[in-house]
Amino acid sequence: MKRITILGSSGSIGQTTLTAIRRLSLPIKVVSLSSHTNIDRLRSDGRAFDVEALCSTGAEYEGLYHGFDGLEAMLDDHRPDIVLNAISGFAGLRASLATVERGIDLALANKESVVCGGSLLFETARAHSSRIIPVDSEHSAIAALLAGHERSAVESLILTASGGPFRLLEAEQFARIKARDALAHPTWTMGQKITIDSATLANKALEVIEAAALFGFDSDHIEVVIHPQSIVHSMIRCHDGAVYAQLSKPDMSLAIVSSLLDGPKGVVDRLDFSSLSLTFEAPDRVRFPLLSLAYDILRRNDLSAIAFNAADEVAVAAFLQDQIGYLEMIDVVRRTVEQEWSGTPDSLDTIIESDRRAREVALRLL
Ligand code: NDP
Ligand code: MG
Repeated sequence: MKRITILGSSGSIGQTTLTAIRRLSLPIKVVSLSSHTNIDRLRSDGRAFDVEALCSTGAEYEGLYHGFDGLEAMLDDHRPDIVLNAISGFAGLRASLATVERGIDLALANKESVVCGGSLLFETARAHSSRIIPVDSEHSAIAALLAGHERSAVESLILTASGGPFRLLEAEQFARIKARDALAHPTWTMGQKITIDSATLANKALEVIEAAALFGFDSDHIEVVIHPQSIVHSMIRCHDGAVYAQLSKPDMSLAIVSSLLDGPKGVVDRLDFSSLSLTFEAPDRVRFPLLSLAYDILRRNDLSAIAFNAADEVAVAAFLQDQIGYLEMIDVVRRTVEQEWSGTPDSLDTIIESDRRAREVALRLL
């Protein structure tokens, strides 16, 4: 039995993971769980999976580990073989570092860890012989594809994007978009933040930065293609002209389960090609400017990825509360990134300070 800890277990990825473990009777022992505010879900999952320990990273509760220190103590007292980090947002970075510092393998859904602290995280993991396995579906697909090819044979990575609910919306209509429109994702069911990010393509922007950091490809060798059916999870393009792809129904269970176990069977339904129609188109960088911003950030090679992430968290939270409109949300991110962000994200202090400063700038721009 593989011992796993799920951080952020009350969220979309956390719940998909627990459902898959039960549905597929996987050889996994759920050792411990964490949530931030949803104590009822945490306790009921804790009972259902007979876990050894629970941590509330938010409020304090009798008998539970509490706060970030509690989370670290829980990992020490109830050591898992692997941690699935399904915490949302910048807060996930410290949990990722705490995991790899202990030499524990990390199944990483929290893309913000890689976007904001990639080099520090990978270096720490190397120093402690901990493996980092991507859970984001595009990166999980690319990791699987790269495993089958010599690095020298691969020219570029091709990330697919559904295009979100506004793929076909006229530019003039964007000013009227409300949070509830943006929350209606056509193919994936996910947490609120990433659903809004899928509508603006901020999610793809984060994923371009994530792919560059995870796989060591530069901005000229990462492509994005819109694929509304979300069946092709991502591709690699080889120098000889061949393109290799991973396909399945859009269901995070595949990426999650394959990050935890080798060779699980029947994780997602078999694809039926008789009823499949796949289309692809180029992303519209005018209506979705945040995608181009990711490429600028990669070329800048400074602290602006942290600024992008922080401003986006602030702007999305304000948009979800109808404080600002869709176009203002994009503008806050763009204008925050335009500031001076020189430096390298080589220490946790620098990363935390840049995140704090970017949030301040973004809040002023609201
Ligand atoms: P959700 O918002 O659904 O869940 C977030 C989880 O993190 C919850 O358990 C939440 O606890 C916890 N949490 C929130 N804030 C904090 C904090 N400050 N400290 C500790 N824990 C916190 O998010 P998703 O499951 O959608 O996404 C999780 C991560 O996975 C994100 O980084 C996302 O980008 C990535 N991802 C998600 C995909 C998806 O399909 N959902 C696909 C690919 C990547 P509580 O419920 O108590 O608030
Ligand atoms: Mg993804």
